Amino acid sequence: MSFLSERVKGLKPSATLAIDAKAKALKEQGEDILNLSAGEPDFDTPEHIKKACIKALEEGFTKYVATQGILSLRKAICQRIKEDYGLDYSPEEVIVASGAKQAIFNLLLALVNLGDEVLILSPYWVSYPPMVEIAGGIPKIVSSSFEKRFEPDLTDVEASISPSTKGMILNSPSNPTGLIYRREFYLGLSEIIKKHNLWVISDDIYDRLRFDGKGPENILTFAKELKDRVFLVNGVSKTYAMTGWRIGWAVGPKEVIKACSNLQGQSTSHATSFAQKGAEAALTGPQEPVKVMVEAFANRAKVLCQALREIPGLRFHEPQGAFYVFVDFSAYYGRKTEAEKEIQSSLDMADYLLDQAKVALVPGVAFGDDAFLRISFATSEEVLKLAVDRINIALKKLK
Ligand SMILES: *Cc1c(COP(=O)(O)O)cnc(C)c1O
Repeated sequence: MSFLSERVKGLKPSATLAIDAKAKALKEQGEDILNLSAGEPDFDTPEHIKKACIKALEEGFTKYVATQGILSLRKAICQRIKEDYGLDYSPEEVIVASGAKQAIFNLLLALVNLGDEVLILSPYWVSYPPMVEIAGGIPKIVSSSFEKRFEPDLTDVEASISPSTKGMILNSPSNPTGLIYRREFYLGLSEIIKKHNLWVISDDIYDRLRFDGKGPENILTFAKELKDRVFLVNGVSKTYAMTGWRIGWAVGPKEVIKACSNLQGQSTSHATSFAQKGAEAALTGPQEPVKVMVEAFANRAKVLCQALREIPGLRFHEPQGAFYVFVDFSAYYGRKTEAEKEIQSSLDMADYLLDQAKVALVPGVAFGDDAFLRISFATSEEVLKLAVDRINIALKKLK
């Protein structure tokens, strides 16, 4: 007998978290695992941010606060968006949530009706399709190709639209590709969005982690007139190495933000009070630590790509941001392991590399592309080089 609701019956655990858990379990058993599956910076949270949080705790800032988030943090978020994008928002147009993840979850619950279709551009962040489904919607995946740097053809985007299509989720720099959409793509996309009256969730979580020295960009950079239909999502997790703090936010038209607040008020109430003080310090304090991390990520991207180029058969684009390279391993599919097992998929390859090379990568099937595996460079250059050596040796053993 099962008491499970229809809503959760088909729900799978997050694939990225699953690999991470497997790698961590093997490590605990004493195995020398190099974990390149992490979806978080390896840096520690900057000291001044921790201090602000400790101060808040010591001052007794430990009670319930406003559902939508403390006003000073919402003001800091508006200020940051003004500085980064030149866009004006008021604190009523901001909701602070327990991570960007909850911010997206809130938005989808507030925007999606039963049977509504939501466009998701592949490869995509693992959580988008299940989140849309939980909200009662139907994820419509728009495919892309390696050759076109994972920017879907605009004709394919438009062909995916039906009368039930209500919105679209964007993410650039992208997890898993590390690539940034070009201006031309955004311009074309914005025409389609207007024509079909769609809303957009712009997941900007990596917007400041880019290696070209340019400022952050999203669809509003190129199409300001979409401001009344675009919801900007961001947070402190990736930019400030604060994944465990669980602070993110959504910014956009008041009516929907208010609905998110009503939803959140009936579920988690609000993000942790003193963590919000830390996030405020992150946004308003010195931004030097971000620069240091971005430089480190940029260097690691170079080191990793240089090493990967030594392995025959692999294809990838050098990342422009975030901390991932999306690598095509499919040239090795169809080959056999020493145990005569044929590698047929990204899951097989991830399992093989974890067993043989003791390197943990995330299978691309989790992001909608089975030819690829995602390599995270949120780890030291030494570990990256060692990991690529081990991958190279393991691939050579395939027959
Ligand atoms: C990490 C990540 C998130 C979630 O961030 P949190 O603020 O920690 O919830 C959202 N979107 C993408 C693409 C991510 O990689």
